[in-house]
Amino acid sequence: MNPQPELLENVPLAPLTTIGLGGPARFFARVRSSAGLVRALRWAAERDLPVQVLGGGSNTVFADEGFAGLVLHIVSRGIAFRPDGEAVLCVAQAGSVWDDVVAAAVAQGLGGIECLSGIPGSVGATPVQNVGAYGQEIAETLKWVRAYERPSGRIVRLRGEECGFGYRQSRFKGPDRDRFVILAVAMRLRPGERPHLGYREVAARALQDGVAGLPPAEALAAVRRIVLDLRRGKSMLRDLSDPNARSVGSFFLNPVLTKAQYAGLKYRLGTKATELPVFPSGESVKVSAAWLIGAAGFTRGERRDGVGISERHLLALVNRGGSTRQLLALSDEIRRAVARAFAIELQPEPVIVPFDPQSRKA
Ligand SMILES: Cc1cc2nc3c(=O)[nH]c(=O)nc-3n(C[C@H](O)[C@H](O)[C@H](O)COP(=O)(O)OP(=O)(O)OC[C@H]3O[C@@H](n4cnc5c(N)ncnc54)[C@H](O)[C@@H]3O)c2cc1C
Repeated sequence: MNPQPELLENVPLAPLTTIGLGGPARFFARVRSSAGLVRALRWAAERDLPVQVLGGGSNTVFADEGFAGLVLHIVSRGIAFRPDGEAVLCVAQAGSVWDDVVAAAVAQGLGGIECLSGIPGSVGATPVQNVGAYGQEIAETLKWVRAYERPSGRIVRLRGEECGFGYRQSRFKGPDRDRFVILAVAMRLRPGERPHLGYREVAARALQDGVAGLPPAEALAAVRRIVLDLRRGKSMLRDLSDPNARSVGSFFLNPVLTKAQYAGLKYRLGTKATELPVFPSGESVKVSAAWLIGAAGFTRGERRDGVGISERHLLALVNRGGSTRQLLALSDEIRRAVARAFAIELQPEPVIVPFDPQSRKA
């Protein structure tokens, strides 16, 4: 019997994630409005149940046992554009599909998020890990986030500067994890802007396709096509027919090293150091996790039990009919090998949700 009309019980979570792993949610609710959200959170609080917010499930790995509390699936939809001085403000509801927002912006000739084409998942999750790709990240255009603050029960508006953005990081993933449920995201987009070509692969394809000669709106559309094409080639699109896309995208973050750590790594690598892709960022140096994994002896397509490394990308771990336990064992194996070879600790990028977070706290 359902405890309340909008609440479901024992709902399988694997089909709600791109990697297709995890057991059932003890309780599950679809959230379409802030009123529905408040009702569901109150219901969980009265029963002292842990709550896990879920969007498109493209950066989440649930435990094989499932989740012992309430999963809130955010499904509120809506994308609106309105003038904002010289710019255009795009306000999207949290449950909207992120790539629908990019497609709509590009179709209107609005620049600022074209390189984020094809990133799977929902709008509400984009600020959580400050999604980024091909030289753009959401932090650059995000104007504000509307969120429900769980401890105070208030709906708040946080400006971009208040979100604590960093490389695949924000306050929503860091110090304020579980404090906010994001309801809507507003982005300041720029009409008539030419596409961003800061990433080598995109710039090379743009040159080949003569993008420079196109008017701005057509150039934005061309760059969206290029990005989607590049992503398809790496199985980095949500595509149910592609076995290499049964992943969470990149499983590891690119390590960000201090200058001293980087010098130590170069010393260890000797003559191979010139092959390591590096991305200087301020006082630190971001290095390629994929390269380190390859140099530690792993290859594309390698398998362990029912999981493996994508045939298209060393950073993507894929489910080939296995389990979360097997996936985490492979992740540990890779982390240990990279630590042994290069004294670098790889950090997983996805959110790994334990069966019962409260029992872990105890
Ligand atoms: C094939 C593939 C390619 C990818 N490529 C990229 C890439 O290029 N760049 C990149 O940055 N990421 C990439 N990702 C990761 C992923 O798509 C993004 O992190 C995306 O933003 C996750 O959205 P989601 O709705 O699926 O999040 P979910 O997996 O549902 O949730 C992720 C986290 O966000 C929280 N969350 C979700 N919605 C809300 C909300 N409304 N309020 C508060 N918290 C919320 C969840 O609780 C969880 O902690 C890729 C993933 C896949 C599968």
